[in-house]
Amino acid sequence: MFEHGIPFELNSRVRRLVAPNPGVMTGPGTNTYLIGREQVAVLDPGPDLPEHIDAILESVGDRIRWIVATHTHPDHSPAWQALQRETGAQVIGAPPWDDMFQDDTFNPDTPVQHDDVLQTPEFTLRAIHTPGHVGNHFCYLLEEEGMVFAGDHIMNGSTVVIIPPSGDMKAYIESLQLLLTYNVKTIAPGHGDVIAEPREAIDWLVAHRLKREGKVVAALEQVGDASVEELLPHVYDDVDKSLYRMAALSLTAHLIKLQKDGRARHWPNAERWELTRS
Ligand SMILES: [Zn+2]
Repeated sequence: MFEHGIPFELNSRVRRLVAPNPGVMTGPGTNTYLIGREQVAVLDPGPDLPEHIDAILESVGDRIRWIVATHTHPDHSPAWQALQRETGAQVIGAPPWDDMFQDDTFNPDTPVQHDDVLQTPEFTLRAIHTPGHVGNHFCYLLEEEGMVFAGDHIMNGSTVVIIPPSGDMKAYIESLQLLLTYNVKTIAPGHGDVIAEPREAIDWLVAHRLKREGKVVAALEQVGDASVEELLPHVYDDVDKSLYRMAALSLTAHLIKLQKDGRARHWPNAERWELTRS
């Protein structure tokens, strides 16, 4: 199912091709989705790895009309350039923000807007702006199948890192809830297998984030004012220390959310956080 280089059929309109970039942050590898049969949209072309680009071109090279990116992290978008060069396909997505870990080469023909629709004879693909993981993140709903391509908004098997400054925990939770307002039957994530119970999965994710937020508040109550580094072992006592660098990003995103909610404040000069007293 996650064999590299061989497309796996998910339904009559969609095949999945997994990039050979497995890892802690990418699971079995980045999922590239091939949507359509006669005229194909390549959604999340993936990392700039020749064997992955060759596999995409061998499968559908003569039929690629669109290249669509959920966001511009290096494991999702960079192969756009080689594919565009080979096929002349139209590139759809949101340009990278001035942010960490971005594919600065990404240069869409069509900067996507919320609710934009790609209508082809075979399928309808609707863009849904889902800031949170990063600010320029879009999910895409394949309306005929009720399948939402979730990029890094929702992963199967690992927790999404929220990456400030453009990543935003408050926006993330709101973007999760936004997906439930659409007719979503399955979630096709950027990493891992298709999720068949979208409502349960999203409810769990929101609850998981709010539980983590509860641990941030409890830690600030216990420690008083503290730096992100001092809070990490309290808030992520269930997470291996090798993941602390990434956890620090999500922790900062939680603190920024608490600040926006009026529950925490930040001492920028000292890089310390504390709860607001009411
Ligand atoms: Zn990402």
